[in-house]
Amino acid sequence: MNTDIKNCGLRDTVIRVDLSAIAENMEHICQLVGKETAVAAVVKANGYGHGARAIAPTLIEHGAALLAVATLEEALELKQAFPDYPVLVMGLTPDRALPYAAEYGIIQTIDSLHQARLLNHAAADLRQPARIHLKVDTGFHRIGFSDSEAGIREMLQIKELPYLVTDGIFSHLALLDDASNLEQYQRFTSVINVLQAEGFSFRFRHIADSIALVDYPEYRMDMVRAGALIYGLRGFHKGFVKVRQALTFETKICHISNVHKGEGVSYDYAWRAPEDTRVATLPFGYADGYPRNLRDRGFVTIRGVRCPIIGVICMDQCMADLSQVPDAQIGDTAIIYGNGSDNAPDIQEISQLAQTNKNEIVSRLSSRPARIYMNA
Ligand SMILES: *Cc1c(COP(=O)(O)O)cnc(C)c1O
Repeated sequence: MNTDIKNCGLRDTVIRVDLSAIAENMEHICQLVGKETAVAAVVKANGYGHGARAIAPTLIEHGAALLAVATLEEALELKQAFPDYPVLVMGLTPDRALPYAAEYGIIQTIDSLHQARLLNHAAADLRQPARIHLKVDTGFHRIGFSDSEAGIREMLQIKELPYLVTDGIFSHLALLDDASNLEQYQRFTSVINVLQAEGFSFRFRHIADSIALVDYPEYRMDMVRAGALIYGLRGFHKGFVKVRQALTFETKICHISNVHKGEGVSYDYAWRAPEDTRVATLPFGYADGYPRNLRDRGFVTIRGVRCPIIGVICMDQCMADLSQVPDAQIGDTAIIYGNGSDNAPDIQEISQLAQTNKNEIVSRLSSRPARIYMNA
């Protein structure tokens, strides 16, 4: 038996990832920003559910200058597979884990002198320099050095730590409106100017995520951090870049019930048949990462027809009304969400139905559905 039980095809609920979409999206982003600006491919949260390790070669081949993740664990997974490729951890790492960043050559975000000294110490023990990016808080108030004089003094002390190599400096936009973005950008560049005047310079200065890199070309600087966009999830309003969704979530009908008028379906019989109804059972549920709150709102697409999900969505299964597809049979494909073709909803539509954003829909896809990679 295949030892990769996740991918040996024993379950019909799968996530298809079109690698040619990811390749083209990456290329279009690189073309948009031009040669002067590097593109960091953000593959945190298992590549927004797409499978970070599996998509990384495509991203690397099509122009990613580095892979960016949120946590050291995510970085270690990639570093094991791609030891020579630069991987940036954009979040903070606990003090006790910093030596691993040094040991495995992972680029760590630093926002305190305390952690810079710890990492410097760990790197000195290993006799190999550790690479870092400094994070500056320009208003978001998540992580980052303060842009006050005290913050700048701390950053300048980092320049003196012999085992640290500071590759970059970055900040993050709250994306409230043009005026607040500009204010953040100006706070960021004024910090950089002070540091550079003191001889502290940076190869990669960066502040733009997917939305900002399209809508605010003037904030692209030396590097942009593209997450949503590489998966074909669009959030831009003013600018444009051609990207298409790479992910399709689908299953197959595993059972069909004939529910008589007045009978209930699923927990609490929360749905009752208004008339005799053919009902499909589908082997996916909220444990696969489908939002449970899509009850009474969600649907799957079978033979090109949107079939409402009825009753409470269970952990592993849910039911759909087949009234509009009388020919549907066990084994028919049901698209849970796709790229918009075949009348299926795309991730944008599902996120609106679920009252959340596109990134949450995909990043919460669990490890249970097998990922199938197409068009490599
Ligand atoms: C997740 C993340 C990004 C990517 O965001 P998208 O909106 O998906 O492009 C960029 N920068 C930081 C610091 C992040 O945490």
